[in-house]
Amino acid sequence: MIVEVLFLAVTANAQQVTVIKAGTLIDGRSSEARRNQTIVIRGNRIESAGDVATPAGAKVIDLSNMTVLPGMIDTHTHIFLQGEDPAEGGYDVQLLKYPLAYRAARATVAARRALEQGFTTLRDVETEGAGYGDVGIKMAINEGRIPGPRLFVVTRAISTTGGYNLEGYAPEVEVPKGAQLIDGPIEARKAAREQLDHGADWIKVYMTHRSWVDKQGNLVSQPTLTVEELKAIVEEAHGWKKKVACHAYGGEGMQRALDGGCDSIEHGLDLTDANIAQMVRQGTWLVPTLSVYYTHNDPPNTPSGKRDAKRVAVHGPSFQKAIKAGVKIAFGTDAGGFSWDEPMAQEFARMTEFGMSPMDAIRSATSRAADLLDMTGDLGIIAPGAYADIVAVADDPLRDVNALKNVRFVMKDGAVFKQ
Ligand SMILES: [Zn+2]
Repeated sequence: MIVEVLFLAVTANAQQVTVIKAGTLIDGRSSEARRNQTIVIRGNRIESAGDVATPAGAKVIDLSNMTVLPGMIDTHTHIFLQGEDPAEGGYDVQLLKYPLAYRAARATVAARRALEQGFTTLRDVETEGAGYGDVGIKMAINEGRIPGPRLFVVTRAISTTGGYNLEGYAPEVEVPKGAQLIDGPIEARKAAREQLDHGADWIKVYMTHRSWVDKQGNLVSQPTLTVEELKAIVEEAHGWKKKVACHAYGGEGMQRALDGGCDSIEHGLDLTDANIAQMVRQGTWLVPTLSVYYTHNDPPNTPSGKRDAKRVAVHGPSFQKAIKAGVKIAFGTDAGGFSWDEPMAQEFARMTEFGMSPMDAIRSATSRAADLLDMTGDLGIIAPGAYADIVAVADDPLRDVNALKNVRFVMKDGAVFKQ
């Protein structure tokens, strides 16, 4: 039976002691799972975990027939997108026809869906024309008014003139854009300052935009910001002790992303050996988002269909090379790019298909993702001092990562959300 607990109890009572009996525990950091472990939670933090005694008077949650792991972290989502089916008008109608309140209502549902699936933290990487809506959703979650994951938000994202949707309209018609467009380092810095001022936890930059297949069959991507523009943003964000996530497929835009000092490369479809060596040297993260490129692809005999197929063809090998070279990898799905009704955990099977071990895939969505978010020890781990964000699945995810699609128990901040 699934019981969703009244969600206004978002944070556990500070003195409440809860004990979880875990049949198998994957703590998010260790390379091995452990059997028959006890997790003691006081308030919203984990007090102890391991072979420890149950304190007298504690409330006991018996998950002895399940695998328990840290609440999962998706470091690349869009709660303000809904999988834009081209048959339903695609991306453009979101910005042209839907009132912001409608989009915010649907973002609220998306946030809830993520939590139901065991994702207790999201880095949500831009609102796609919905301005600072993510700051509002985060506020409502933190105040306990709606259920949802912990959100790290980027607000509007930044690209250049000619570097983001909407496009293809008559030049005389002014249409809204899905990102804040800048030209020149001064505008770039100003946009970063505005976004940070209004609550951005991260800055998101689009370093490539259009892509196509050239005569030689290579994937080519249009670069957007110059190194100087990007450096102004990175310097500004780092001054605020925040980081910069860069959408980049490959080529010139990828080179500028790395030279300009991006903290994470999003997608990284077409990575050269030199790109990978530079990422290792600079400590740049890769958030691959493999699965989303398998959805909504155009017919294979059309130019856009050839591009879509080429994206998929180069992505896996790039990811494999990155794993081998030791690039830091964090789990990200691009959920919102596909419907929130599809399982976010489908990404795990793609990662393992290309050679990542199930445990490493899980770590990419727990302790490794927490490292990316500068939340090491607080999130993505079941250990003393961490927030009590805990999930459980019935089947063994180390045998089949698809077990993670079926999360049976969700606790966030010490409060049970789903059981
Ligand atoms: Zn995305």
